Amino acid sequence: MMKLCQRIYVHSVDFEDNFIFNGLTGSIDLANSKIAKFLKSKDMSMIDNLEKEEIDELIKSGYLIEEGSNISEKFVYDTYIKSLGDRYENNYFVICPTLDCNLCCPYCFEHSFADKKAILDDDKLDRLFDFILERIKENPKQSTIELFGGEPLLKENYDIVQKIFEFANINHIDMIITTNGTQLTEFLDLFDEYKDILKKIQVTLDGDKSTHDKRRIFKDGSGSFDIILENAEKILDMGIDTDMRVNIDKSNIGNIEEMVNDVIDDSDLLMYDNFSYYFSTVTDHHNLDNENMVDEADLAIALDKLNLVEKGSFPLLGYLVDSITKVNGSRLPSFSNCEANSIYNYIITPDGNVFNCPEAIQNDNYKTWSFYPETRKYSFENKGFYQNILTDESRKDCNKCNIALLCGGGCVLVKNNKAQSGHFCKMQKKAVDKYLNYLRGKLALC
Ligand code: SF4
Ligand code: SF4
Repeated sequence: MMKLCQRIYVHSVDFEDNFIFNGLTGSIDLANSKIAKFLKSKDMSMIDNLEKEEIDELIKSGYLIEEGSNISEKFVYDTYIKSLGDRYENNYFVICPTLDCNLCCPYCFEHSFADKKAILDDDKLDRLFDFILERIKENPKQSTIELFGGEPLLKENYDIVQKIFEFANINHIDMIITTNGTQLTEFLDLFDEYKDILKKIQVTLDGDKSTHDKRRIFKDGSGSFDIILENAEKILDMGIDTDMRVNIDKSNIGNIEEMVNDVIDDSDLLMYDNFSYYFSTVTDHHNLDNENMVDEADLAIALDKLNLVEKGSFPLLGYLVDSITKVNGSRLPSFSNCEANSIYNYIITPDGNVFNCPEAIQNDNYKTWSFYPETRKYSFENKGFYQNILTDESRKDCNKCNIALLCGGGCVLVKNNKAQSGHFCKMQKKAVDKYLNYLRGKLALC
């Protein structure tokens, strides 16, 4: 008995060559109109229209699955979990010492946060450290603390950062810092003292100097480009792994080439083995129709035209991009969209609460724990969190979705919002379609 794979995405059916993508095997193929129509119809009776060689090809590439074949959704899920190894169960503590920031970038989702004055004072820190040790005791796996914010490296918060480093060091916890990079020179002595546990610092640049200085601005309106670049070189000189994230939206997507030429190629950054950079779209999960946003297809296309697609971060298109660029390399489907879906992910706010998602920290419905004034666990069942996107009861629409293994179930926050959920799925499919459309045009030119 033969059946059709449920994770096939058929881009078009009318051309001589049509893209078909098999989410289960990660294979992307060209199919004639007859085959594409059969796959799209999901109607097994149409198989009679195909030649024996065509059927054999479809079996070989996992589009048609024979009874007893090991290409099954369970097999792919088990392989995925196995490939993650311990990473699946590691503890990840994202500590926000404050939600305050010395920059005021126009696209930042944290502008709306009401209480920016709260900080992790000594009393809260003691309770937080107890909380972290209790969680590690419950799940004795590798643990990482990421400093996040607001801006975690504000000079007035030096003592807090120092205490977190001391705590991490004593307890063999790795540290990562996500910072705007403007005041990090105030912390160089700590980076030096704790360099064994400091695994990475991520800073952000938003383009060449003129683009960046319109976006990542100090409160007096001045730009932060020069100081960030200067500071990035200081930590690179110390041998610290430094990742540069470039946020892309409508206002700078046309400047990627200038950014790469002026900033990356013409500076000394590429001379450092410990330097890397990547491009990521700015997202607004509270307003999907935000007009300044670009989708992942726009970014993938812009980067592809510069032969830089491997420098993009693609939560949605990553599996597809990898299927095209890493023909013989390893690639993984997405059974989850983001770290918010892990029960071992703890976003810790300076007022003593814990969440799974950094964008949900103003919404008590998403609170998973509090550690101050007392430790308390909250139930967050039925909030759209899931284990396996293909089988979880709470995600019936995803169970049968043909791009599920690209999308991984999407943003939990958006999917919980009934008014936005359907719109979000349409946007995901539109982005997949747009990217395949671009590839089809490229192929036609070859
Ligand atoms: S969130 Fe929407 S697009 Fe994503 S897997 Fe679920 S149904 Fe499909
Ligand atoms: S749930 Fe949505 S907003 Fe939260 S981390 Fe995931 S993608 Fe981001």
